[in-house]
Amino acid sequence: MRFSKAFFPTLKEAPAEAEVVSHRLMMRASMIRRLAAGVYTLLPLGVRAQRKVEQICREELDRAGAQEVFLPTLNPAELWQQSGRWDAYGKELIRLQDRHGRDFCLGPTHEEVITNLVSREVRSYRDLPQNLYQIQTKFRDEIRPRFGVMRGREFTMKDGYSFDRDEKGAEESYGLMVEAYKRIFRRCGLTFGVAAADSGAIGGSFSHEFMVMADTGEEAISVCGKCGYSANVEKTPVEISLPDNGGGELEKVHTPGAHTVDEVASFLDLPPEQITKTLLYMADDEPAALMIPGHRELNEIKAKNALDAATLFLADAAEVERLSKAAVGFAGPVGLAGVRIVADNSLKGRGGLVLGANETDHHYTGGEEGRDFRADAYADLTLAEEGDPCAECGEPMNIRRGIEVGHVFKLGCKYSEALEANYLDENGKTKTIVMGCYGIGIGRTVAAAIEQNHDENGIIWPTPIAPYHVDIVLVNMKDAVCREEAEKLYTTLSGLGVEAVLDDRDERAGVKFKDADLIGFPYQVIVGPKGIKEGQVEVKSRKTGEREFLPLEGAAEAIRAKILGEIEAFTSS
Ligand code: ATP
Ligand code: MG
Repeated sequence: MRFSKAFFPTLKEAPAEAEVVSHRLMMRASMIRRLAAGVYTLLPLGVRAQRKVEQICREELDRAGAQEVFLPTLNPAELWQQSGRWDAYGKELIRLQDRHGRDFCLGPTHEEVITNLVSREVRSYRDLPQNLYQIQTKFRDEIRPRFGVMRGREFTMKDGYSFDRDEKGAEESYGLMVEAYKRIFRRCGLTFGVAAADSGAIGGSFSHEFMVMADTGEEAISVCGKCGYSANVEKTPVEISLPDNGGGELEKVHTPGAHTVDEVASFLDLPPEQITKTLLYMADDEPAALMIPGHRELNEIKAKNALDAATLFLADAAEVERLSKAAVGFAGPVGLAGVRIVADNSLKGRGGLVLGANETDHHYTGGEEGRDFRADAYADLTLAEEGDPCAECGEPMNIRRGIEVGHVFKLGCKYSEALEANYLDENGKTKTIVMGCYGIGIGRTVAAAIEQNHDENGIIWPTPIAPYHVDIVLVNMKDAVCREEAEKLYTTLSGLGVEAVLDDRDERAGVKFKDADLIGFPYQVIVGPKGIKEGQVEVKSRKTGEREFLPLEGAAEAIRAKILGEIEAFTSS
């Protein structure tokens, strides 16, 4: 590609809405442009980087025995009603009607469509296992689209699905995909971890997330430095041991204006862990009270699982006042009628608790679970924090930020049961197919690679996913000899399969170097009058900044060898 002809509208400044570095650089390096909130156009450089990631996915999935398909984006509502997700998916599902008034949605994921396909085509145990994947545009009306293609409302996903005869087969398929994913993300030049995760709305028995460590990541992950256990904080088991708080009798005390845990704690001169938070929620439209020690945060995912609820929302002020018959901040479990109470495990049978009294400006002291109130259930309800003991080995854990680039689920029979995906076993008996599903955010992977590989001047592409390998910087357009040598080099490199750009713009050298750094070509080949006079070109590595002079004769081959060596290193490491 000649830079003078290319559609590379680079920018000096990123727009104000670009909060994270990958978004800023993708805008500045002319990879993406925004059309609407969470809806982006990919420009040529964006397409090229994304195609590289897609190709790596294809190679590794094909190697693992999976096969590529392409499923429709337009999904009939009936399939989603059959699985129960037409309602459960909520507002994230983009719905529409055809001219006959029939309901459809734009696929946010494809369990329904693929399970329907397999249920029609697979008959016997001989047809299994199968592993099918696609790379396709997904639609999700995200509540908070942000960070460019990192969280879009329209985005490219690689989604795959495995179909096995039994649990054992499903676990083998899952294991194969975990290994394939590790190879994929390694080849994309990412530093990542694999964390145990909640299986969320998609259902299923267990799942892991592939997390790219980055301070700007939306996910928090616990990591044990000793045994290597890692999990999304949503999923990390927490066991809280509360200090002995002396028991005592239930006594109502006047706590004027003390709403928050800190206010109550300082008013009563007690540490926050002795105050108990009672949080009122609506779980599938039924009120629920969630009780946790005052010094910790509620983990809403754990709460949702404990309540077995599809939806969970904090009750609004009016609802809190109706349920607790008091202003917000004074709800407690004693005498709380018609509300399901779930308490953190640490509160089971515990005495000496400070509780909201369901009366404005009042609290109880000396409350005891089992005596003054009774929880309907106990569960691990709190969010893991820095220093919490590891569930596996007890060592204090660290909390890190990460970007979820991939997600693997062992689904079990949730969808195959709902959509009647069965097969006949060796004895002619009807059995349900056991499924797994596997997703990679293609655009998010590109963005995550930039989060991890950049400097103040721009992107530093890992060579395997760079949009182009080489930028030939023609320093002085007026020098006919230089122009001729640069053209020759461009032709030779292209002929050798090196993806090269020739910067033949009538621009100052400084402008060209700035763009080369911003776009992040792994190598800049500088063709200038001085070098050419000596029969040399200068090659600069974007990553290390190292410069070397190569004799013109054989320069293209030497550059090609460098690039192939780097791609190979990512593939085999
Ligand atoms: P998140 O928790 O970030 O919303 P998810 O659990 O909803 O992700 P999955 O349904 O598992 O995501 O989708 C598979 C992969 O698709 C994710 O691991 C992620 O890389 C990508 N992905 C999901 N939502 C988006 C989005 N809105 N924009 C870009 N990529 C996305
Ligand atoms: Mg999501």
